[in-house]
Amino acid sequence: MTHQRTEVAVVGGGMVGAAVALGLAQRGFQVSVIEREPPPVFDAGAAPDVRVSAISRASVDFLEQLGVWQQACAMRCHPYRKLETWEWDSARVIFDAAELALPELGFMVENHVLQRALWDALSAHSQVTLYCPARVTSLRRKSGAECELVFENGDRLSAALIIGADGANSQVRDWVGIGTHAWQYRQSCMLITVRCDAPAGETTWQHFTPSGPHAFLPLFDGWASLVWYDAPDRIRQLQALKLPQLKDEIMATFPARLGPITPMATGAFGLTRRHALQYVAPGVALVGDAAHTIHPLAGQGVNLGYRDALALLDTLTRARDRGEVWCEYSILKRYQHRRMPDNYVMQSGMDLFYAGFSHPLAPVRVLRNLGLMAAERAGPLKRRALKYALGL
Ligand SMILES: Cc1cc2nc3c(=O)[nH]c(=O)nc-3n(C[C@H](O)[C@H](O)[C@H](O)COP(=O)(O)OP(=O)(O)OC[C@H]3O[C@@H](n4cnc5c(N)ncnc54)[C@H](O)[C@@H]3O)c2cc1C
Repeated sequence: MTHQRTEVAVVGGGMVGAAVALGLAQRGFQVSVIEREPPPVFDAGAAPDVRVSAISRASVDFLEQLGVWQQACAMRCHPYRKLETWEWDSARVIFDAAELALPELGFMVENHVLQRALWDALSAHSQVTLYCPARVTSLRRKSGAECELVFENGDRLSAALIIGADGANSQVRDWVGIGTHAWQYRQSCMLITVRCDAPAGETTWQHFTPSGPHAFLPLFDGWASLVWYDAPDRIRQLQALKLPQLKDEIMATFPARLGPITPMATGAFGLTRRHALQYVAPGVALVGDAAHTIHPLAGQGVNLGYRDALALLDTLTRARDRGEVWCEYSILKRYQHRRMPDNYVMQSGMDLFYAGFSHPLAPVRVLRNLGLMAAERAGPLKRRALKYALGL
């Protein structure tokens, strides 16, 4: 058994944890990352990861700053320039990159690709120690704010700051006694990787129905990802189907504009909204899904995680450069202060969409479609909403 020391220990090397760790190392902090399993090595001939994220313009800027965006794109990514959403055909909102004079609204990136690009950079950085595969099983408070992580094999690691980037069911959050405000959405979601007969194009779309939205995310080389939100029982039923039967269900349920597709792989997820009551405790900060999870209908989860990452990097670096004790609780609170209201607003916005668009009553349907018609004609307001969603 060993006992090591580091300045910052990041528990969880997912898309958010790996980005925070790399950013800290690039700013001169000594960083350790503990991760249960490494992302798979990239294989250009392999089918896409079933988990795909819509990465916004602001997140691309952040990943460029970290120096990993080019590597991710060199593996695989696909731009989307238009986003269409509708319930009734007559009430359609179309967001176009051209409205903001942007080359694209963002990119569809496989989660494994992004994590791999970050891991390759982490592995090459002299300020980073990677513990992987390794699992943290407890956190002990030492003298003052300093904490110690205990690994499954008994090894211990002390750090001036521990960053909990260990995802939605964060144990770091539990170990330091931070509660959450949480509820389960009455929807689950199925991700379906499909091959399209025609090119997938550069438009992502989402058709709202009272049982849940149906979305299309274009990928490279005629691949695409479908997202099917529905009642948990219905998603369980779909999961039990063989792929040819699932195809029949897709063709009967998704709008005709989908065209001919062949489903190749699936994954299903329950949807929970969570918000940590605090993002920080003495010696500890939470980022990404450890701090908040959100309904994925607008593809904002990891993008919010990157806004957390940027704010934490900036807060710690500024404090250190001013000669303050950068890992002090009062400094960590500045990070919480910067991020909590923004995450709360985005979460509440998604909940409003979820509640408004899953309501079966006819007057509510009329109202929400009128709302979409008004949004399409809202000019500057529509552009502001788009900028906010893109993090610009
Ligand atoms: C269906 C669905 C679709 C989504 N689509 C989008 C989208 O289009 N755009 C978007 O921005 N977001 C999307 N999201 C959200 C996005 O996937 C998450 O916000 C993002 O993955 C969170 O990243 P993270 O690094 O915080 O957590 P995670 O990805 O959960 O990573 C946590 C890491 O911690 C490790 N870990 C956990 N516990 C320990 C431990 N004790 N010891 C060591 N390691 C540990 C895990 O192995 C894991 O690698 C979607 C989510 C879902 C469910």
